[in-house]
Amino acid sequence: MTATILQGKEVAKSIREELAVEVAELKKQGLVPGLTVVLVGDDPASHSYVRGKSKGCEEVGIRSELILKEASTTEEELLGIIRDLNENPNVHGILVQLPLPAHISEKAVIAAIHPEKDVDGFHPINVGNMVLGNETLLPCTPHGVIELIKRTGTEISGKHAVVIGRSNIVGKPVSLLLQQENATVTMCHSRTQNLEEFTTKADILVVATGRAHMIGKEHVKPGAVVIDVGVNRIDSGKLVGDVKFDEVQEIASFLTPVPGGVGPMTITMLLKNTVVAARKQAQL
Ligand code: NDP
Repeated sequence: MTATILQGKEVAKSIREELAVEVAELKKQGLVPGLTVVLVGDDPASHSYVRGKSKGCEEVGIRSELILKEASTTEEELLGIIRDLNENPNVHGILVQLPLPAHISEKAVIAAIHPEKDVDGFHPINVGNMVLGNETLLPCTPHGVIELIKRTGTEISGKHAVVIGRSNIVGKPVSLLLQQENATVTMCHSRTQNLEEFTTKADILVVATGRAHMIGKEHVKPGAVVIDVGVNRIDSGKLVGDVKFDEVQEIASFLTPVPGGVGPMTITMLLKNTVVAARKQAQL
């Protein structure tokens, strides 16, 4: 079997086209969805992610604003910026690019964002609502992963899904959302013993470890849907996933590439959250 390559880029493009139509409609009703991204410091990867987000906004017609602050910005200053954005009716989504410089508490900053403007889906209230299965702003990467799996036509209900990684931003929420889609979910992490024993039983395997090429074909059940969330820069400068693409492609039914798989979906879900947040705030 050779896997069908799940081109997140293509899926993202079609969702963005749908969003562009929706935004044009909202504009006719006088509502221009607005996203403000706050970036503190000069981490090159963060700057590159933020550029991708602005470009995405432009594509679908969302008004975007970037607030750039020096790495020496204090927590108090940043909290002040967030307070102003919370009160600004033209700003429907606030995203503070992580990681923040070490002297600023990410926890305090995330908690300061109004939950209705928290388009990253990281605020404890939104996380709580997600756990409860209430309608809420979902975290972008996990939401993108679920959308990608659905686009394969795979019925998630009743399947055995294995998630490797248990971070708050990827592994944990992915496992929760898969469970809400009625999958039977196994979570693996760095202390899991005999990883293969679990992964070879997975109909759906989601890998989010940040360990380049750690999953080979010996880990994968023939015919599995494999979603590679990892983004790792190797010595050659190339970006690779957590999965050995060439090998796993031989036995999986669907496989995401890196780059071009989960990444474009993450930004697209951010755009979607901004539109959802704008509608909710305008009570449309
Ligand atoms: P974290 O480092 O926060 O978490 C990694 C998880 O993987 C941890 O739970 C860790 O276990 C587990 N892990 C590490 N090594 C192993 C191992 N050898 N066997 C089993 N489990 C292991 O990373 P993130 O969740 O933030 O990100 C994961 C990857 O996804 C990264 O490459 C990141 O760049 C990428 N990413 C991509 C995004 C996209 O849009 N494409 C968005 C966000 C992240 P333990 O808890 O025990 O330490």
